[in-house]
Amino acid sequence: MSVDVVTIFPEYLAPLRSSLLGKAIERGQVRVDVHDLRTWTGDPHRTVDDTPYGGGPGMVMLPEPWGRALDAIAPPDGPGQPRLVVPSPAGRRFSQSVAEELAGEPWLLFGCGRYEGIDARVLDYAGQRMVVDEISLGDYVLCGGEVAVLAILEAVARLIPGVLGNALSASEDSFSPAVDGLLEAPAYTKPAVWRGLEVPEVLLSGHHGNIARWRREESVRRTRARRPDLLGD
Ligand code: SAM
Repeated sequence: MSVDVVTIFPEYLAPLRSSLLGKAIERGQVRVDVHDLRTWTGDPHRTVDDTPYGGGPGMVMLPEPWGRALDAIAPPDGPGQPRLVVPSPAGRRFSQSVAEELAGEPWLLFGCGRYEGIDARVLDYAGQRMVVDEISLGDYVLCGGEVAVLAILEAVARLIPGVLGNALSASEDSFSPAVDGLLEAPAYTKPAVWRGLEVPEVLLSGHHGNIARWRREESVRRTRARRPDLLGD
């Protein structure tokens, strides 16, 4: 998968080079390029924002640097176009199924808004030649899209075949078909008794059928208590 990120704070994206995604980049499973939007400004002050038409507080990101960035990274006459992902509180809600959808894309281009967001015409312009997806992390307002890009990319990268050490772990996570879209059962490791607290006995029994049944019951119990909306009943 190829990933391009456009931001006015490239250093904010440094964590992409660590941990699991960093290893995927080293192994060549994912290519990530982070671009500074100011590269495409046209004045000595490298201005990226201006006051909103119609008045109101805050500043809006200028369309021209964004237009130039899109044309440079994904030329209109290029052989293929990326899917443009723009984090926005007004976007569709991010979820595991959206992560799965994005993990199937060969090329993702993220545009990080700041201030009051990006001039709306930029998305219309991009939409003339690429799929544009506005995605929200949740019903709260962040200062910029960078944190959203980190969260989205981490969720997406671990679904790319070969990126996770154990391929089964993603397929059995919460929200996956293996748990019928429910929350995963709690997990335990050694020692069997820790500070007087015991691991549920069934997990020590070695009886695979009973363990699977217990995990299923715990998954349903937990989901009913914490996320009844996922049960759909
Ligand atoms: N004026 C915008 C509004 O009320 O919808 C909020 C702009 S916010 C201060 C600046 C940027 O942060 C947005 O353009 C977006 O990129 C990002 N952002 C803020 N909240 C977000 C969320 N819940 N999900 C994804 N991105 C978010």
